[in-house]
Amino acid sequence: MSPSALPAARDRLRIAIQKSGRLSEPARALLASCGLSWRESRDRLFCYGESLPVDLLLVRDDDIPGLIADGVCDLGIVGRNVLAEQGSQRIDDAGSVKYREWRALGFGACRLDIAVPDSWEWSGSAQLRGKRIATSYPALLGAWLREQDVVADVVPLSGSVEIAPRLGQADAICDLVSSGATLAANQLKPVLTLLQSEAVLAGPAVPFVDAREELAALLLRRLDGVLRLKDSKLLLFQAQRQTLPALLKLLPDAEPPTMLQVDGADTLALQALCHGAMTWQRLEDLKLAGARGLMVLPVERMLA
Ligand code: ATP
Ligand code: ZN
Repeated sequence: MSPSALPAARDRLRIAIQKSGRLSEPARALLASCGLSWRESRDRLFCYGESLPVDLLLVRDDDIPGLIADGVCDLGIVGRNVLAEQGSQRIDDAGSVKYREWRALGFGACRLDIAVPDSWEWSGSAQLRGKRIATSYPALLGAWLREQDVVADVVPLSGSVEIAPRLGQADAICDLVSSGATLAANQLKPVLTLLQSEAVLAGPAVPFVDAREELAALLLRRLDGVLRLKDSKLLLFQAQRQTLPALLKLLPDAEPPTMLQVDGADTLALQALCHGAMTWQRLEDLKLAGARGLMVLPVERMLA
């Protein structure tokens, strides 16, 4: 699709997300939880923003950095691995990358790992000298090898990297790993991590100069609210004033609690927003430390 086929107005924000793949559903769900809704075009490549002037373009994930760099899209949701791999190709005349990571989004976690055959006794990166390493991330692997001062043969492959050693195309691989099951099924083991990755919101390195700036700020405010609330719970309880220091020690991930005096000077009613998981074990520890009438409530929305 050429840029001219899209609405030209720059008072709308255009976000590129993966059309189909690991990141497409979570990306849409995250944007929907920020209050965005869309009308889908018949070709299902473009979704027109209805609740806010924020449209979606559905594309291959590898195209997202280029679409942002060329200004076709304003923002994108893409793996940090893809953004980093293409970073060196997307530089402006002054030599700076045209986009940056705006936010880490907490899904699509994986690592870019070097993996070698199970039969190797791994002794360190020097072992890769003179070896053939298959990868879909030649830029990241090449940069890492230079950093390590290791001269090896990078074999660029667009897919099925993990079977390259079995096919005799390579001695080792550098590929994305999440559970490690695919590696194990191919008699490979991970030995080094080059990059910890997850889905990120990517945007231009410089601010917008029109209405998109305000829209982007609104979206970021909502996104930050949603991301902060992911594991957050509102904790309600009562306690005697003197037990407070011990109780607060058990709540290192809580915002400063709101306190109300009840029943004379010594009993307090507290409410605290906690950002970590509120397990039964934690509640039992709080009870032992003096909390009474503990209640854990889900938090639906938050605007700081
Ligand atoms: P497209 O058709 O859009 O090019 P793709 O095959 O390149 O799709 P997916 O396999 O859906 O992409 O992966 C998208 C992103 O999901 C990756 O770039 C990476 O950031 C993330 N990801 C998380 N876990 C894994 C994994 N185990 N293997 C590959 N990617 C993973
Ligand atoms: Zn891809």
